[in-house]
Amino acid sequence: RVLTLGCDPLVLPPNTTSQTFKNYALEAAKIVGSANVTVISDEAELSQESYLEPSKAHDMFNIADKTYFVCSAVVAPRGVGEVQELMKLANEFEIPVWPFSIGRNVGYGGAAPRVPGSVGLDMGRHMNRVLKVDVEGAYALVEPGVTFFDLHDHLVKNNLRDQVWIDVPDLGGGSVIGNTIERGVGYTPYGDHWMMHCGLEVVLPSGELVRTGMGALPNPKADTSKPIHEQEPNESWQLFNYGFGPYNDGIFSQGSVGIVVKMGIWLMKATGYQSYLITLPKDSDLHQAVEIIRPLRVNMVLQNVPTLRHILLDAAVMGHRTDYSKSDKPLTDDELNAIASKLDLGRWNFYGALYGPEPVRDVMWQAVKSAFSAIPGAKFFFPEDQPNNIVLQTRQNTLQGIPSVTELNWVDWLPHGGHLFFSPIAPVTGDDAEAQYNMTRQLSEKYGFDFIGTFVVGMREMHHIVCIVYDRKDAESRRRAHKMMKEMIEEAAAKGYGEYRTHLAMMDQIAATYSFNNNANMKLNEIIKNALDPKGILAPGKNGVWPKNYRAADWQV
Ligand code: ADP
Repeated sequence: RVLTLGCDPLVLPPNTTSQTFKNYALEAAKIVGSANVTVISDEAELSQESYLEPSKAHDMFNIADKTYFVCSAVVAPRGVGEVQELMKLANEFEIPVWPFSIGRNVGYGGAAPRVPGSVGLDMGRHMNRVLKVDVEGAYALVEPGVTFFDLHDHLVKNNLRDQVWIDVPDLGGGSVIGNTIERGVGYTPYGDHWMMHCGLEVVLPSGELVRTGMGALPNPKADTSKPIHEQEPNESWQLFNYGFGPYNDGIFSQGSVGIVVKMGIWLMKATGYQSYLITLPKDSDLHQAVEIIRPLRVNMVLQNVPTLRHILLDAAVMGHRTDYSKSDKPLTDDELNAIASKLDLGRWNFYGALYGPEPVRDVMWQAVKSAFSAIPGAKFFFPEDQPNNIVLQTRQNTLQGIPSVTELNWVDWLPHGGHLFFSPIAPVTGDDAEAQYNMTRQLSEKYGFDFIGTFVVGMREMHHIVCIVYDRKDAESRRRAHKMMKEMIEEAAAKGYGEYRTHLAMMDQIAATYSFNNNANMKLNEIIKNALDPKGILAPGKNGVWPKNYRAADWQV
């Protein structure tokens, strides 16, 4: 887009004047070039609403008013040096910036900032190189704009996929860095992305550049005449996470004290593979299923991050709500049973995979099959048994790290579907699964929505992902979804459940539920925030952490 530097944005950054903002935009343009500064001056610039061509300026799946969570401008640095200069500029003008890598982040706010009028830093537009793939060490080093599709394509194009695989989330269009630092998950044995990252290069709010872990030890062979960020890193940077002394990576995940400009991520060695589906006929099978899953997962007989999906999640990938029902009430158990039998699925459907040489997989499969056979009516399928089951066919790819966008379909359950995720963590027990399912299904129905959800089983816990689909063009539907989410957060916390990640509009509420010992954790977060970002210019309000020059109460949604 052609630059409109001279104009006022739809929303100014807080505590600044129109003139100061214009001066800032001119200075930013001197750093990144005028083609890389776009002032968001017109509502027409908020028209992009598709995952495939996402908006970089607002929340496409808005829950608040469409013009609330918007940037004043989008600035796209072309390299690490420019990111450093932009941080210095933000300090000088005291204008908040909100970094994003790709800005898809669907269900959590997209590219939009927490504080309206913040300047969006589009980290991915130019900084999108796969810097390294090391097959022997089994890792990659990437820049923010590398998506899961990009990294996968890179392996395919370089004939490396028969040696190493990536791990992908449900949708492959997000940034590897963005998803990992938000602690997103995928479904192979490497599904916990944050666990599998190794080594960060970070620009601090001051503009200082830091390499974490082994990256702090200079490579004796590095060419020190190069700019600091181009110097050859330590050869163990992507091999050992912790380096020496305090381990700081954690403060840069879901944080607001640094912009990640390089990240290492471990790759899985390519291996033998077999995905499968186990269908469980009754709604009440949930309890027993989770009791079966826990020991298998802790023992790593279940090698990957498996999912136990509610029938409607699969049904929504396969069709619109109107394909199944004319009713405008939440679907009843009878209707859900009818959908399950029509689709040849269970009320709960368990998707997993076996890895390793065939004899190993055979033994694992016998163990899995015999454990699940305790559930009357459980059925077992390999992908070739259900060639038309689009979910199973997609999981067959996802569980071996091949990205897709098929799961986007479920957002179209309702017309103009928008979605929020309610995602509490729980122990892997039948009681907890039932308690969460009952609570979230009842609240969904109370607010007039169908329950759509899945239990995603990590090493020791479950992420229960409830997919709240609403009509984003209908203010009343948005309002109901928002209100329901607030009530879910409150009820969950009362039962001891907390969410792992959330949409911009819910960050304060969830942060407040993590209140042990008079909010000691938040006080620690604030001390770190204020020490590293004294002017509060980097992502103020992100995940409920407000710098000292902001009052959270002024920014309630
Ligand atoms: P996606 O990968 O789904 O497109 P985003 O790029 O929008 O996701 O990133 C999600 C969130 O992660 C952003 O809103 C921001 O808070 C944080 N984030 C993303 N990239 C960076 C980065 N390079 N440095 C710091 N924070 C980032």
